Amino acid sequence: MSKPRVGVSACLLGQPVRYDGASRPHAWIREVLPHYAQILPFCPESEAGLETPRPAVRLVQLEGENVRILGVDNPELDVTTVLQQWVEQQPQYLQTLDALIFKSRSPSCGLATTPVFDEKGALLKPDSDGIFAAWVKSRYPNLVLFDDVRLEDRHGQALFLARLQKG
Ligand code: SF4
Repeated sequence: MSKPRVGVSACLLGQPVRYDGASRPHAWIREVLPHYAQILPFCPESEAGLETPRPAVRLVQLEGENVRILGVDNPELDVTTVLQQWVEQQPQYLQTLDALIFKSRSPSCGLATTPVFDEKGALLKPDSDGIFAAWVKSRYPNLVLFDDVRLEDRHGQALFLARLQKG
């Protein structure tokens, strides 16, 4: 029987795709999960064509508008449209998956962990979704969605594998 297919934020697999050129390797995802699942890396920001390294971005609620993804140091930098276009090109890829594991707190990948700021940099909300995670949640309610934080301990790891095997 073929293994379930799990999309994983590439930085959690040790790929140096973060804005600063670093990664955030997660030992259990890298070393244990491949025994149970086929791993398919994704990185919305680099696959959308943003360079690495690149300026850090964050979610910003502009007055009277939707949340945008703007540069931390340069609020004139707006990568919302380029990321949104990448997101909307993903349906076929997602239809082949059983689950996704997202990197927490990312403006692209965060799953109920991403902060939203106002235009002056004040925290408005600590637990929003990144643009890709939000889109997946709204369009694919049956996919198993986890993040690295929930997979830090044995309980979360066992829960994820049980959900994956249940299908
Ligand atoms: S959090 Fe998501 S967008 Fe950011 S580097 Fe990791 S995979 Fe790429």
